[in-house]
Amino acid sequence: MKRSKALFAASKKVLVGGVDSPVRAFRAVGGDPVFMRSGKGAHLTDADGKSYVDFVLSWGPMILGHAHPAVVRAAEGALRKGSSFGAPTEEELRLAEAVREALPSMERLRFTSSGTEAVMSALRVARAFTGRELVIKFVGGYHGHVDSLLVAAGSGATTLGRPDSDGVPAAWAKTTLCLPYNDVAAAQKAFREHGRRIAAVIVEPVAANMGVVAPEPPFLEALRELTRKNKSLLIFDEVITGFRFFYGGAQTGMRITPDLTTLGKIVGGGFPVGCYGGRKEIMDLVAPLGPVYQAGTLSGNPVAMAAGLATLQVLKKDKPYARMAEMARVIVTELRGMARFKGLPVQVNHVASMFTVFFTETPVRDFATAKTSDTRMYGRFFHALLERGVYFPPAQFEAAMLSAAHSKLDLERTLEAAARALRRL
Ligand SMILES: *Cc1c(COP(=O)(O)O)cnc(C)c1O
Repeated sequence: MKRSKALFAASKKVLVGGVDSPVRAFRAVGGDPVFMRSGKGAHLTDADGKSYVDFVLSWGPMILGHAHPAVVRAAEGALRKGSSFGAPTEEELRLAEAVREALPSMERLRFTSSGTEAVMSALRVARAFTGRELVIKFVGGYHGHVDSLLVAAGSGATTLGRPDSDGVPAAWAKTTLCLPYNDVAAAQKAFREHGRRIAAVIVEPVAANMGVVAPEPPFLEALRELTRKNKSLLIFDEVITGFRFFYGGAQTGMRITPDLTTLGKIVGGGFPVGCYGGRKEIMDLVAPLGPVYQAGTLSGNPVAMAAGLATLQVLKKDKPYARMAEMARVIVTELRGMARFKGLPVQVNHVASMFTVFFTETPVRDFATAKTSDTRMYGRFFHALLERGVYFPPAQFEAAMLSAAHSKLDLERTLEAAARALRRL
C-alpha cells in the first residue's frame, strides 16, 4: 500500500479530497483508497502491484472485463483516425442503430458524455413536452448529480423535496417529489395531489444505487399506469441496467415501455458516454428540430462510440448473461449460507449479475430498510476482502457486479476470502 498511500497524499494536495468522484475516497468504509494501475479481464492491479478480483467494474461499464481485446482494437482503430471532429461520424450512427435495435422504445436518441447529462436532458425534454415542472424520483435512487435531483424527501405531510446538497436552490429542489421505492400507494397519493403538475416519473427499473433492490410487482406497472392516465412521462433510468441483465434494457425483459430512457456506463464500453431517447414526438422537441436546447463538444465522440459498439457486439455474440447470473447466484447463496452459519444478520439482495450484501435482519426493499444495515460491519467486511485480493464496492449502498470475464477460479478465490472475512467480523 506504500505507493497508493503516497499517491493519495500527493493527490489530496491538488485534487479535491484526492479524487474526482467522492465514493472513490473510501469515506464510507474508512481507510485510504487504493490507486489502480491496470486492469485485465476480471482483475485489477494496484499501484503497489497487488492484484484483485474486481466486483466494482468501474461502477458498471466494464461488463466484458478490463481491456477486452475487441474493445481495445475498436478504440485504437478509431483513435488512429483522429479522436474528435465536432462533426457527425459513422461510428455514432452505428452505435445509435445498435441501441435502438435493442431498445425499440428509443425511437430517436442522442448521445452525451455522461449519464448525468443524459438524465438532465431527458428531464428538460419531458418538462418541455408536458409543459409541467414537477418530477417524481424515489428515495435512494441516483440519477447523477443533476441539481434538481439532489434532493431528500420533504418532512411530514409534504412530499416536495428539499436540497440534499449545498448549492442546490430550494426552489429547484421543490420541483422534485421524493417518494419511497416500491410504494405504489405513495405514488398514487402524489398523483392524486399533484397529478396535473407532474411532468415525469424517473425511476431505476432495478434500483442499484441504494444497494440492489428489485422492483416488486406491480410497482413499475403502477407507475406506467399512473403516468399514462395523468399524461406524465415515464423515464426509465437504465444507466446501470441497460445491457446489464440481457441484450437490451430491463424494460425489454419486463415488457414495460417507458416514454424516455437514459443509458450510460455499458453503452460507452469504458469511455465517457451517456444517451437519452424515446418516442419520436417527444425527442423531436430537441434542437436542431425543436426548441429544447442541448449540445456537447465531445458528444458522440468517435473513440467512445467505437468502444461502445464493440462492447455491444461482443455481448450480442457471446451472450454471457446466463453464465454471469449463475455465478452471481452461487456467490450469493454461499455468502448467505456462511453468514447465517456464523449467526450474522444478513440480506443478500440479488438480481442476475448484480448483488449487495446488507448486514441486517430486515428484508431490504427500499432505502429506509437499506438503512437498517450495519454499515460499519460492511466496512470491516470490505477491508477484510480487500486485504485478500477481492475488490467489492467501497460503500454499502452500491451494487457488486460480475463481468463476462469472471472465472470459476475467481469465484473460488472470492468465496475463500469471504469465508475468512466473515469469520473475522
Ligand atoms: C451512474 C449513474 C448515473 C450517472 O451517470 P454518470 O455517467 O456517472 O454521470 C445516472 N443514473 C444511474 C442509475 C447511474 O447508476
